[in-house]
Amino acid sequence: MDAELRRHAEAARGFMPIDEGQGLYEYASRVAVPGPFLEVGSYCGKSAIYLGAAAAEQHRLLYALDHHRGSEENQVGWEWHEPDLVDPEIGLMDTLPHFRRTVHAAGLENTVVALVGQSAPIATTWETPLSLLFIDGGHGEKPAHDDYEGWTPKLRSGGTLLIHDVFPDPADGGRPPYEIWLRAKEDGFKEVAAIGSLRVLTAP
Ligand code: SAH
Ligand code: MG
Repeated sequence: MDAELRRHAEAARGFMPIDEGQGLYEYASRVAVPGPFLEVGSYCGKSAIYLGAAAAEQHRLLYALDHHRGSEENQVGWEWHEPDLVDPEIGLMDTLPHFRRTVHAAGLENTVVALVGQSAPIATTWETPLSLLFIDGGHGEKPAHDDYEGWTPKLRSGGTLLIHDVFPDPADGGRPPYEIWLRAKEDGFKEVAAIGSLRVLTAP
């Protein structure tokens, strides 16, 4: 990965360990079917740099979807809350300005296209076949399964599915990302790699 982009990715705020971020870049670089990439859950743009670096090299777009209001665990009083990400005018989280700065600083504005809104209704109307799908949005039961059901049918055969925060041991983290990884395997996705909590699969 380009050294400059790697520096930007590592400096960006967010929830993506370096080895898993490198995994995103590496497997995104190997995608062999046509079409854009899409990630669900961008936060401040950290994963979007790793995926965007690969997309830029291949002249693809990365759609980066997030309502930018934070997941349950990012809200006031929860474990992963960052108070300076609250918009004081309205008292709600707003990671969009941070996301935009991250993408701008990395020089990826022509590659990374923000989709600002709720994942499920966007999935319902989405028609462009995807070559790569990264699921890292809401980790509750409903959002995780909705993302799986809404977005995986948009992936081309032979395309790459990446799922973050898959923890086989419940002591390490929540169940839903692990459950959708199990569903993917039942649905015929083939396991390619596991890097930390990141899982890489190929679409049937
Ligand atoms: N990939 C990011 C971390 C994502 S955190 C990184 O590399 O740092 C999860 C994100 O999912 C949050 O920003 C939250 O706003 C978003 N999210 C949660 N549920 C969502 C939904 N239903 N629709 C759109 N975005 C959602
Ligand atoms: Mg994550």
